Amino acid sequence: MATDPYAWLSKSLATIHRADWYRSVQTIQSMPGAIVQLQGQPAINFASNDYLGLAGDRRSIDAATAAVKKFGTGSTGSRLLSGHRELHRQLEEAIASLKQTEDALVFSSGYLANLGAIASLVGKRDLILCDRYNHSSLKNGAILSSATIIEYTHCDIQDLQNQLNKHREKYRRCLIITDSVFSMDGDLCPLPELLNLAEKFICMVLVDEAHATGVFGANGAGCVEHFNCTGYPLIQIGTLSKALGSLGGYVAGSSALIDFLRNRAQSWIYTTALTPADTAAALEAINIVKQEPQRRTQLWRNVDYLKQLIAQDLPHLKLLPSESPILCFHIDNAKAALIVGRQLKTSGIFAPAIRPPTVPTSRIRISVMAIHEPAHIQKLVSVLKAIL
Ligand code: PMP
Repeated sequence: MATDPYAWLSKSLATIHRADWYRSVQTIQSMPGAIVQLQGQPAINFASNDYLGLAGDRRSIDAATAAVKKFGTGSTGSRLLSGHRELHRQLEEAIASLKQTEDALVFSSGYLANLGAIASLVGKRDLILCDRYNHSSLKNGAILSSATIIEYTHCDIQDLQNQLNKHREKYRRCLIITDSVFSMDGDLCPLPELLNLAEKFICMVLVDEAHATGVFGANGAGCVEHFNCTGYPLIQIGTLSKALGSLGGYVAGSSALIDFLRNRAQSWIYTTALTPADTAAALEAINIVKQEPQRRTQLWRNVDYLKQLIAQDLPHLKLLPSESPILCFHIDNAKAALIVGRQLKTSGIFAPAIRPPTVPTSRIRISVMAIHEPAHIQKLVSVLKAIL
């Protein structure tokens, strides 16, 4: 019998290497932006979730700095003990106002918001219907809840209906969970149809607006606004770390929902409150989202421009169906995806290879931002043309 109880770790790592699934970090040595310093080289950044370019915005930086000076670096405790500041409440009110919901609750990350909300809304006697391509935080929230989990085919309303017909009546509560923008594909969930089914089968619906907030909807409220579903009985999750350029997550919905989560969501109750700096930066970013719709307009212009250039210069490049600033194209296998990712980097383009087990098939993922200039997009397409 082996004597080292940790020996399996290096064996497991060797297996990960063999499959070309090994992951490691890449260091950015500059401010966030359209061009970043990536491991000593400037690179045009198509790898970031900073859709509106707010992570490096002077106003957010100033708000965060002022909050640190006034309230210190840490919030020193959980929200229900010593961690609550007026800034948290202001941020929750700003989120509720953006989303047009009765209330909102800020968590320390989007991941924790999903874990906490899902695990407190359903339990052993309940059913979760989960889109197969949902984000890890939704899937792990479902596991944590101990509810029965049924995965339905990606964005397939017919399959969802079949599963509901077959299983709904055996369970007490039912929760349908879905990303609104699927983060590794860029397509959107069929929210109106999903809400119709939910009404028919008396289900709660939780929608993760992580990649939609600030990006979709006339006011930047997300896909719920984009699909004209504002005001529907929904549980909306989101993050402060993508278009809002900060850190943290939230749940938005009815007052009863938020009050319940304040009393039951363990990933909110038993963790330290968001730092003053992150809170203030997110609050400032929401003000900017409201006041500067032109950022959104520019983002969509850039997405259209990239799609148009690809259609013109790379007619054989098949983009995955996308209705968002996330554009992906398949690469045969993990090894080839890594090679293309590396070639892009050598040519000054930062667009990562996404491989299993994150996604079922390897791909290059391009994330467009409002602050990209036409020359950045042209360079991406000319480099892709040369490489592919
Ligand atoms: N949901 C989705 C769809 C995401 O893409 C992410 C972040 N990758 C999260 C939740 C988690 O958000 P956070 O980074 O704030 O933990």
